[in-house]
Parts: sequence; C-alpha cells; structure tokens
Amino acid sequence: MEPTSPDVSLAAVQKKICLLGEFAVGKTSLVRRFIEGRFDDRYLSTIGVKISRRQLIRPYGKLNLLLWDLAGSDEFNGQIRANYLRGAAGALIVCDLTRAETLSGFQRYVDQIQAVGLSIPMVFVGNKVDLPESRAISETELATIAQQFGTPYFTSSAKTGENVETIFERLAEQIETKG
Ligand code: GDP
Ligand code: MG
Repeated sequence: MEPTSPDVSLAAVQKKICLLGEFAVGKTSLVRRFIEGRFDDRYLSTIGVKISRRQLIRPYGKLNLLLWDLAGSDEFNGQIRANYLRGAAGALIVCDLTRAETLSGFQRYVDQIQAVGLSIPMVFVGNKVDLPESRAISETELATIAQQFGTPYFTSSAKTGENVETIFERLAEQIETKG
C-alpha cells in the first residue's frame, strides 16, 4: 500500500522573491508597507538579509511570498550576492524616482540575476512617486528600460501605499504564469 499523501492542493506554495536596487531607494520600506501596512520615515539601514513572509490568496490557491531584503547595493558582491539570489522565483528591481542615477543600476541587477543562471520574472519599480516636485526619472525613461528587458513596470510609494499591492500581485502572477 502506498502511504497516504497529504492533500497537496491545500498546501501553500512558497516562492522566494528578491528585492534589488541601490541604497535607499525604498526596498525595505516597500516590504514594510506590504507586510505591516505602515511606513516609517526613519532610515534604518538593513543589516544583512531580512526575510519576511506574506501569504497571497491567488485564484489557484495560496501563495507564500518570502521576501528577501538585502542591505546595501555594492558592498556585497560575488558569493554573497549569489547566495542571496539562489533559488529566487522572482525579483523586484527598484529605483528612486527622485535620483536619476538609481535607474542606471537596473542593467547591473539583471546581469547579476543572469550571472547566477537564473531566468526569473522581474518587475521594475520606480518608488517615491509621492514626491513629484523632486522627480528626476520620467515615466518614459522607466517605460523604455522596462521595454528593453520585456518586464512590467510600476511607479509606487511605500509612503502612501500607492501600487504596493499591485507590484507584488503582478510579480506573483508572472511567477504563476511561468509555471
Ligand atoms: P532601502 O535602502 O532601499 O531599503 O531604502 P529604505 O526603505 O530604507 O528607504 C530609504 C529612505 O527613503 C527612508 O528614509 C524611507 O523613509 C524613504 N522612503 C522609502 N520609500 C519612500 C516613498 O515611497 N516615499 C518617500 N517620500 N520616502 C520613501
Ligand atoms: Mg533596506
């Protein structure tokens, strides 16, 4: 007799999501908004890797997102970054709409993902859209780079919550579509 297997349809699927982006673009704030529904103005630089979890109820069942948030952008490279990315099912690549130079890092993050042999869905995010007076990256610039890599993009605000749910839902959808 075969041992009875648990009803796998009731088990939640776990997916690892990596947050990527320059220093202070708002990675930790987006995770905090998505997980805790709040915003914190203080800048507490993430130390090491923080992993947070949230369950989404998707049309095909429960999906647990494990959000990996790594401190810094360039102080960790090579092996640490490879370990960080290993097993990821998707990535959010974030820039700060008030700092033009944070968009040029996107190519590097895509390269890092490819360098560890991953071909995973990505979503590009232009964060801090609540600061229009300081805006330094246009919708067109963001759209152009997204089109170049064939990824969806959104503007967001961890402060107001604008589009934060949408970003993660969209990434989940991309991951499901990929199988
Ligand atoms: P990280 O280094 O990418 O994790 O960036 P943080 O999440 O720590 O955010 C860096 C700084 O930007 C903090 O002072 C945040 O309060 C601020 N910040 C993050 N997201 C937003 C946003 O959407 N709007 C505004 N106005 N500030 C933000
Ligand atoms: Mg952080």
